[in-house]
Amino acid sequence: MADIKTLLAQFDDISRNPQRLLKEYVDSGEKVIACFPIYTPEPLVAAAGMVPMGIWGGQCNPQAAGKYAPIFTCSIMRSVLEFGMTGAYKGVSAAIMPIICDTLRGTNSAWRAGVKDIEPITFIYPQNRKDPGAVDFLIEELKTVKNALERISGREITDTSLQQAIALYNKKHAVMRAFCETANEHLDIIKPADRHHVMKAVTFLKAEKAIEMVVALTEALKAEPICKWQGKKVLLTGITCEPDEILGYFADNGIAVVGDDLAQESRQYRSDYPAACSAMESLALHWFAIKGCSVAHDDNNTARGDMLAQMAKDLGADCVVLCMMRFCEIEEYDQPSVITQVSKAGLMSFSIDIDQSTSESGQALTKIQAYAEN
Ligand code: SF4
Repeated sequence: MADIKTLLAQFDDISRNPQRLLKEYVDSGEKVIACFPIYTPEPLVAAAGMVPMGIWGGQCNPQAAGKYAPIFTCSIMRSVLEFGMTGAYKGVSAAIMPIICDTLRGTNSAWRAGVKDIEPITFIYPQNRKDPGAVDFLIEELKTVKNALERISGREITDTSLQQAIALYNKKHAVMRAFCETANEHLDIIKPADRHHVMKAVTFLKAEKAIEMVVALTEALKAEPICKWQGKKVLLTGITCEPDEILGYFADNGIAVVGDDLAQESRQYRSDYPAACSAMESLALHWFAIKGCSVAHDDNNTARGDMLAQMAKDLGADCVVLCMMRFCEIEEYDQPSVITQVSKAGLMSFSIDIDQSTSESGQALTKIQAYAEN
């Protein structure tokens, strides 16, 4: 248990201090590439010998960002822009930005105007994933990212180095899935905030280090007696579920988080990079393997709701909590059909507002308490 406590404290510390980790990387001579949400092709960064670090905003009250991002910009992009404009990402060599929604399209222009010292590397994910030319289109887009990374690192990304990086990331995906599975047998130890800090810290760590730390935690958990959780269990869906205060509301009300479909957490580990004729094709095909995700268009409007209902049942959860990133039109679009499909499956659901400009949420607390008392 001491080991588990130590490991959880390390994850917690990393999750709360990405700037310190960034400084450590830069001070030791490494080049860091910031990775905007979501599905940024991190293996390309690793294959170029650089460090990919996720950027997921954070609690702040944006002031500078207001110059370029209107108030109805999603909360996460406002805080990312604020951090960029106020120097929080100082030392980063470039930022990869996948254009997956209209907000990111605008953020691209805002970033170029407001964050002069960090070059954005943009590319487009094709939303028509059935078009016969979509794979080739995406490969060409990814080549522009590859070329930019080679220029910044001064190192060629070969098919072999990219294959190795892809294998490493597929291993990381498997390790993260195994952690989530094991954590559910120890809900007395892994509280919602602990689970979140493990998942968030991993977005800042090099893949090798993330694998080492998460495997150590998973093994330590397996040595503990299995806990039969008697309280309620929920599945989270959305972009992120922060801050800790919200996760604390679940814990304080005896509710366990047994799974998630959060973009910041499990969504990025759900599908692997498939085997293909070339490493670049494998990287591209990942986009086409994604199912039930708000940012990857699916003609079947019920796919995500059906997937969440099945996930909740498999995990023993009786409720799906929609963590609604403020002003994320992509998530808002899915909300009605998710609620319909989940309730058709006989499960409960409710939405909570995720706003990175506040740390307290009376609305979320009231809804969580109401569910706990139901
Ligand atoms: S998908 Fe939603 S949260 Fe992400 S950038 Fe677009 S609008 Fe913002």
